[in-house]
Amino acid sequence: MINTKKAIKQSMYETVMNQFNKTADIIDLNPNIRKILGITNNEIIVHFPVKMDNGEVEVFTGYRVQHNNALGPYKGGLRYHDTVDIDAAKALAMWMTWKTSLAGLPFGGAKGGIKLDPRDYSDSELERITRRFTYALGENIGPEHDIPAPDVNTNPQTMAWIVDTYMSTISSSERSHNQHVVTGKPVGAGGLEGRDRATGFGVYLSIKLLLETKGEDLKNKKFIVQGFGNVGYWASHFLTKDGSKLLAVQDAHATLYNENGIDTEALAQHCEPRKGSIKGFEGAEEIEADDFFGLDCDIIVPAALGNQITAENAFKIKASILAEGANGPTDKDGEQILLDNGVTIIPDIFCNSGGVIGSYFEWLQNRNGELWQLDEVMAKIEKKLKENFHKINTEVNKRNVDWRTAAFILAISRVETAYIQRGIFP
Ligand code: NAD
Repeated sequence: MINTKKAIKQSMYETVMNQFNKTADIIDLNPNIRKILGITNNEIIVHFPVKMDNGEVEVFTGYRVQHNNALGPYKGGLRYHDTVDIDAAKALAMWMTWKTSLAGLPFGGAKGGIKLDPRDYSDSELERITRRFTYALGENIGPEHDIPAPDVNTNPQTMAWIVDTYMSTISSSERSHNQHVVTGKPVGAGGLEGRDRATGFGVYLSIKLLLETKGEDLKNKKFIVQGFGNVGYWASHFLTKDGSKLLAVQDAHATLYNENGIDTEALAQHCEPRKGSIKGFEGAEEIEADDFFGLDCDIIVPAALGNQITAENAFKIKASILAEGANGPTDKDGEQILLDNGVTIIPDIFCNSGGVIGSYFEWLQNRNGELWQLDEVMAKIEKKLKENFHKINTEVNKRNVDWRTAAFILAISRVETAYIQRGIFP
């Protein structure tokens, strides 16, 4: 029995290790492969100086953790946030290995970022910080080696600065075909039509497919979203388009509620000039942050940071579906409470995998010198997500386990097979 009052917030690293060990026990993972997968391949920490607008120099700390590349080049986002540290990067890198494996992509897992709050810096400072970080990472990233993408507080502009810096600092003979060193670029700079909405679309589609298995649809379903950035906005956009009602939104600055539904597009327009904050939006009332997860709704989409649903608040949840747009939003104790209460958790490694699937198509498009239209891209992403959904659903029914356990079994087994077939060098 969990004592909710004394619950201690677990780190994301503990959460992912717990998920890994639980699955390794279930599938009786080969003990040698368990040793390899239980640890990260490379952990890179760089300290680099950047000249600020006022002429002073500030030294930043950046991270890139490469968990595993048995299935292909390392792949994963770069995050700019105060909470970025080596443990967070390790956890997020490990989740990427499972996510790319589950999605059936030829990628491994990595993650990184810089410990900073972007609101403390001007655009030109952020550009110099990004370019200097890219330079400091040097050959630790590369189009066939490790391919970053946007994550919290980074965006297509950040990726454009990285690709430009990378291509400006490699030898001229290699410059013409290295755009795929990052994905999530602006469309004009080698980006993919639809990559902007790919993650949120996947979150929406995963909920829709799950409801279909219960003979239900999205019409008149009430949902709440934590985080109204790239993932939170696009998930809300597609969910409301299919007839669901956005009841409440929470971001880093405010929690908004409207029992008649919040106008997703008006809220997005409100956020635009304020660099992302929902605060001050007139189409909803502001409520206490602590009341958010207990609101009476059908679906919750956490689309912000990790460890948001814990023993401290999971027992308040009334929704029957938790769709993990964010990476690692639910810790072990929070998860147990939700499962005991009959909540279906659509796990992050599937729920938000539309983003990395979109990134795979961007990488392929750049590699092959092709240009695809939006409808072609969305159809490709949808097809892959549907195939993966059905694989997990089959595993859920075959083993009578929850969705996360089923997804982890598939993901870890695929990497295990790769190791068994290849053997361990030398
Ligand atoms: P973003 O920077 O565009 O938006 C983040 C949002 O979270 C903002 O609205 C911010 O205000 C909010 N937020 C930050 N701290 C918060 C807090 N303490 N409480 C409530 N809200 C808070 O980031 P994003 O790209 O939308 O990523 C969101 C999540 O989705 C992350 O966990 C990320 O790892 C995951 N994810 C993103 C992608 C992608 O393609 N961008 C892909 C897969 C997973």
